[in-house]
Amino acid sequence: MSNSELYREALKVMPGGVNSPVRAFKSVGAEPVFSVLAKGSKIWDSDGSEYIDYIGSWGPAILGHTHEDVIAAVIEAATYGLSFGTATENEIRLAEKIMHFFPGIEMLRLVSSGTEATMSALRLARGYTKRDKVIKFAGCYHGHADSFLVAAGSGAMTLGVPNSPGVTEGAAKDTLIAKFNDIGSVEELIANNPDQVAAVIIEPVIGNAGVIPPVDGFLQKLRAVTEANGILLIMDEVMTGFRLAPGGAQELYGVEGDLTTLGKVIGGGMPVGAFGGKREIMEMMAPAGPVYQAGTLSGNPVSVAAGLATLKVIEWDMLKFYNNLERMGAMLEAGVRDILDRKGLSYQYQRVGSMACLYFTDEPVVSYEDAATCDTEKFGEYYRGTLSGGVLMPPSQFEAFFIGDAHSEADIEKTLEVIEGAVV
Ligand code: PLP
Repeated sequence: MSNSELYREALKVMPGGVNSPVRAFKSVGAEPVFSVLAKGSKIWDSDGSEYIDYIGSWGPAILGHTHEDVIAAVIEAATYGLSFGTATENEIRLAEKIMHFFPGIEMLRLVSSGTEATMSALRLARGYTKRDKVIKFAGCYHGHADSFLVAAGSGAMTLGVPNSPGVTEGAAKDTLIAKFNDIGSVEELIANNPDQVAAVIIEPVIGNAGVIPPVDGFLQKLRAVTEANGILLIMDEVMTGFRLAPGGAQELYGVEGDLTTLGKVIGGGMPVGAFGGKREIMEMMAPAGPVYQAGTLSGNPVSVAAGLATLKVIEWDMLKFYNNLERMGAMLEAGVRDILDRKGLSYQYQRVGSMACLYFTDEPVVSYEDAATCDTEKFGEYYRGTLSGGVLMPPSQFEAFFIGDAHSEADIEKTLEVIEGAVV
């Protein structure tokens, strides 16, 4: 069946025809792709079209798709048991591996998604500090738990739904919104809510309103102001963990959170999330302590095997691995800049290593407010051109695209040819 035929059938059984909003391609005026096969840097869909893929499953596919070591580990784990409902040795091994690269994580808990990780980390922060409020930044997305669906980026921003119906005023009132890269906005909220803020949660590099890096010193100041006020800093590294560096944005920028949330890469394409941090805080979690959190499939053996295998591949020749991601990221950036400059288009290309975003605006994008002024019509036009040329980018102006280890120079050259034809 073709993509279009499947879409019509899907609309009958799933809201909007998809199981996650941005998969609908609505904001770029296209119909959803129904994938059938993914291998290395490529994806094939139901129409039989081949794409060079830059969605990368929204981040997990850092090795490229269906890496043989990961598939072998998944098959082996599955033959031993899909889910035991008891503890397993590999959960310890994955925890150890993560802790090795994130020195700020002294203990962690595995869950099944990034959403679970962030909502659990917030509960823990509230339980630990005995305070209710949380500060988040406009444009940061931390999954779809009620407390975070206020000024969230990503799907909510793409569809123009800044606050979801169904989120009660009660849940939203404890979420305070600061401006990314503006430490004054954080200080003001803290001053207006003395001894009430449990945590500040941040995407250290925003990847859900395009890509917005922190300006020099911003994360350091945030660390200082949270520490001075007894507020926990939650580094949401669901997207950036093991992507920007093995130790994530915290390693890259030299700033350590009290709690860290992870997902995506650490599951190698299978459903996994994790949150962890200082031992004293983590020991508040049940059954060691009173803060409750649980999961039927937490630490699922097949997911853990996929995660472990992925991290082992990254670790094998780590310097080469991250150098290669940077090299490919830089090659694509230089090529796109050359094309757009020649054509005299207004744009901002924002990139940190293997995550990047092309905004159609002539203003620098340092906050959600700046990102929101982009020309989404122009993006849609560009998007449809790249898609029909065989390049699969995330179908939204407000998403990061990802380079994986499987992207080759030939892929980048082909992508640039397609972009050349897609922009006028
Ligand atoms: N936090 C960040 C920074 C994310 O990018 C995402 C998902 O994109 C999440 C949390 C939620 O993760 P999940 O989609 O696995 O629930």
